[in-house]
Amino acid sequence: MFTEAPTTDDRARLPVAGADGLGRALRDLRLSVTDRCNFRCGYCMPKEVFGRDHAFQPKSELLSFEEMERLARIFVGLGVEKIRVTGGEPLLKRDLPVLIGKLAALKGLKDLAMTTNGSALAVMAKPLFEAGLKRVTVSVDALDDSVFRRMNDVDFPVNRVLKGIDAALEAGFGPVKINMVVKRGVNEDQMVPMARHFAGPQYVLRFIEYMDVGATNGWRLDDVVTAKEIVRRLSGEMDLLPVAANYVGEVARRFRCAVSDTEIGVIASVTQPFCRGCTRARVAADGEFFTCLFGAKGHDLRALLRGGLSDERVADAIRAVWGARDDRYSEVRSEGAGMPRAEMSKLGG
Ligand code: SAM
Ligand code: SF4
Ligand code: SF4
Repeated sequence: MFTEAPTTDDRARLPVAGADGLGRALRDLRLSVTDRCNFRCGYCMPKEVFGRDHAFQPKSELLSFEEMERLARIFVGLGVEKIRVTGGEPLLKRDLPVLIGKLAALKGLKDLAMTTNGSALAVMAKPLFEAGLKRVTVSVDALDDSVFRRMNDVDFPVNRVLKGIDAALEAGFGPVKINMVVKRGVNEDQMVPMARHFAGPQYVLRFIEYMDVGATNGWRLDDVVTAKEIVRRLSGEMDLLPVAANYVGEVARRFRCAVSDTEIGVIASVTQPFCRGCTRARVAADGEFFTCLFGAKGHDLRALLRGGLSDERVADAIRAVWGARDDRYSEVRSEGAGMPRAEMSKLGG
């Protein structure tokens, strides 16, 4: 029982039908459409592990667009209001607008977004917008071309991504969200140039603490530039005014740059965990359902879909998994150190 006006965190924990073991409702779905990517960002798919001979999942193991649509419809029936399409790199699926069209038509879905590395956005932005995609987030870790190429580790030039962002704005997306993962000694000097470049109400810029996801990126706490440090360093260069949270469970601490009218957010998943408001489910491209970004093993929804179960029975299975959920990895990070976990390129961020 709450005796005072609930805070945003408290509201996420008020008793809700279908909530998990910590009172968190199921509201968001991250749908990964492929485990493949054309980049090899060291913090996600390091080349030494995801080399030329890396065996990605065969097509037969991946959900078809029809299966993804069916699952998405079931999730929406269970309370999901927002779907974010991700990967791997979702734009490697050249027919992605077909899936977007199917998802956009789902009754009850309020928001449909996509996270991409932007490499093919110049050609894909318009068809995706026309198919019904509402919002796009582009990952850009540096403006300096040599730093950007080093971050993606496949020598991809930053200009092509910037052209993709322009194409997204021209197509009608706006504001376009930009994600920058900050890694100590690698791209930290790019924070201020990024904030200066992505200035204006057409952009929302998010700085993300480098996370210990997966088991292949060799994460060390020393490589994390903390949210506190990010804000301190930006504040030294520009006036940042704090902004209140948009909705319950919002993960970014938000600021507004007084001069450029840009919204800047910092996602402090390592130093200020937000598990208590985490209403997010993840489905990998093969139909494995995870209730936490740091899970090792998910639940096989593909077997249920292909096993002839009705939508109601699949919904029951998802409800049971969500009801038993007690994940709060980021809050108890040290206890989970060294434990096996799935890769970010599978879970989609
Ligand atoms: N390929 C797309 C992209 O890069 O936007 C979508 C998938 S990617 C896994 C989704 C997001 O996860 C990206 O914004 C990426 O920067 C972020 N990400 C990947 N590994 C990360 C890590 N170790 N720490 C923090 N963010 C990470
Ligand atoms: Fe690919 Fe995105 Fe992972 Fe980079 S962060 S390797 S672009 S999936
Ligand atoms: Fe959600 Fe798991 Fe991240 Fe906590 S650690 S915010 S439960 S995904």
